[in-house]
Amino acid sequence: MVAVRTTGPLDRVAGAHDAAVLAVARRGEPVARTGLAEALQVTPQAISKILTRLIARGLIAEIGSFSSGPGKPTTLYRIVPESRRAIGLHLTRTRLHGVVADLTGQILERHSTEITPEQPVPALIASLARTARELSGHGPGELLGVGVGMPGPVDVDEGVHLGSSSRTDAWRGASIRDLLLDELRMPVLVDHDSRAALIGESWSQPGLLDNAVLVLAEEGLGAALRLDGTIVRGAHSRAGEAGHTVVNLSGEPCPCGRRGCAQAEYLAAQRDGDPQRAAEVLATVVLNLVRLLDVDRVVLGGRSVYAHHQVTMDAIREALDQGLHAGAPVHVEVLLSTRGVDLIAAGAACEVLEHEYGLPSALVGPSPR
Ligand SMILES: [Zn+2]
Repeated sequence: MVAVRTTGPLDRVAGAHDAAVLAVARRGEPVARTGLAEALQVTPQAISKILTRLIARGLIAEIGSFSSGPGKPTTLYRIVPESRRAIGLHLTRTRLHGVVADLTGQILERHSTEITPEQPVPALIASLARTARELSGHGPGELLGVGVGMPGPVDVDEGVHLGSSSRTDAWRGASIRDLLLDELRMPVLVDHDSRAALIGESWSQPGLLDNAVLVLAEEGLGAALRLDGTIVRGAHSRAGEAGHTVVNLSGEPCPCGRRGCAQAEYLAAQRDGDPQRAAEVLATVVLNLVRLLDVDRVVLGGRSVYAHHQVTMDAIREALDQGLHAGAPVHVEVLLSTRGVDLIAAGAACEVLEHEYGLPSALVGPSPR
């Protein structure tokens, strides 16, 4: 296995510059050299070099020019959405939801299929490959690779599922990335579902979620963190395991061996058909995260949240109002994901696109044969 493109320190600087220009252009409106220079606080000459590079790669195109007085007319550029594509797969224990997205992260096609819980790894890889192949036939542009977002913990650098707290986890230790890469012969990355979700959500709202947590309630409960503009993965790729923080010392037993983990309490409330109690568990998790991390935005996502979004949002807003009242008041905005059920699949596709934008990425391609 080899990294798709090796980058040295200077490549990374150039990549960051390209990514910054593309992030502005990604909003869809035509851009001009002077506008970009102002937005990114660099010289128009520096922007010219970046644009030349991006035009040569087919990511940006000239779309015309206009005159606003004497002197040279202003040239307008736009991003070329149809120049690249990426596939994103959202894997749960019971379902596989895939999307193919263009260079701007817009979804071109989606495909969902049910899978058997605790499916053995070879069958799982076959299901992932089948969905990826089906999606690869949709949309124009170069296909960059496949991103997979799955329940954690996941070692993103190695593309390995580290295994849930359940002792019967059939996926524990599976090299999902390398197995899928061997099967598809195209670049693959594997990430934790909540981190893929946060990347997908911040992709569509650049800059808004620089200090944010995304709390995901699917079949389990997890969180992803972005602090001072950087996604936090932690020393063991396990940052954000909010589902196994204890919210009730004498609470429900959890497969991890302890009692009162947030996830165990949340799932128990759901089993009892008590969305209000489930929402209060989530609200406690959110308040604890906000206290710990001092974020200014909280994004909620996942099927379980969407099913009861009103009661969940109300409980969280109330908990934050009360919990943050003491001392200097801080404002924390609570948002529902703008991407709905596509959130994680779209996020995994955006992680693949980030690589093309020149941003650091865990994408790994096949070795040359
Ligand atoms: Zn636990």
